[in-house]
Amino acid sequence: MTNLNTFHIDGGLEIHMFEALQDNYCYLVRDPDTGTTGVIDTPEVAAIERALAETGWSLDFIINTHHHRDHAGGNLELKKKTGCTIVGPKADKDRIPGIDIAVGDGDIFELGSRRARVFDTPGHTRGHICYHFADDQVAFTGDTLFSMGCGRLFEGDPQQMWTAMQMLMNWPDDTRIYCGHEYTQNNARFALTVEPNNRALIERAAEVDRLRAAGEPTIPSTIGLEKATNPFMRPTSAHLQQTLGMEDADVVDVFAETRKRKDRF
Ligand code: ZN
Ligand code: FE
Repeated sequence: MTNLNTFHIDGGLEIHMFEALQDNYCYLVRDPDTGTTGVIDTPEVAAIERALAETGWSLDFIINTHHHRDHAGGNLELKKKTGCTIVGPKADKDRIPGIDIAVGDGDIFELGSRRARVFDTPGHTRGHICYHFADDQVAFTGDTLFSMGCGRLFEGDPQQMWTAMQMLMNWPDDTRIYCGHEYTQNNARFALTVEPNNRALIERAAEVDRLRAAGEPTIPSTIGLEKATNPFMRPTSAHLQQTLGMEDADVVDVFAETRKRKDRF
């Protein structure tokens, strides 16, 4: 674990990014106009409290992507301590501890003056959602989209996850992607096994190695970069299909085979 602690302004949002547990990323997100502050998921209460103390921000919202313990495990304790409001997926409201506001596909969540559109992205879990702050060109993708990877299919099938990937691929290329884990280096190694001659991937993998060696995060990524390097956004790539020996196969089958290989990697 590196001693990462970054703060920056992205679009109209202030984002304080920090590590929690082993390899989770957690984000304090603040609307500078109103001071309204949220935390994207609650992997670890102590780390979040530290981040709040460092920034001097006070927590108004927990903004959950899905119910897993490393994303919603700190909900109740943090709500008790801060009195914050918990926003989470409608499709999984029974599994989100302390949920107050249930949101689903197409809903708009307002963080002060900033607006996030909710996308249902089942696959990793059946209720997983992503938040897209379109005006700020920022998205929080939890365990659906990682840099050069996607979440394991615990509660969904390849068709669902591929559908989710295609929705995210519709976001503008310069959309910054803030995901739930620092899995990028391992994802890059796998991606190179299925697209060994992908130039953009080779370059990104080298950049990731450099960043990690320096103890730097590889996040945020961008949709444009992911479309060029992430095998789970590239089942239509002739090169990837050829490596898998699936030139004439259905795109969903190519996606499924890629996911299966990653599970064994
Ligand atoms: Zn998860
Ligand atoms: Fe996770």
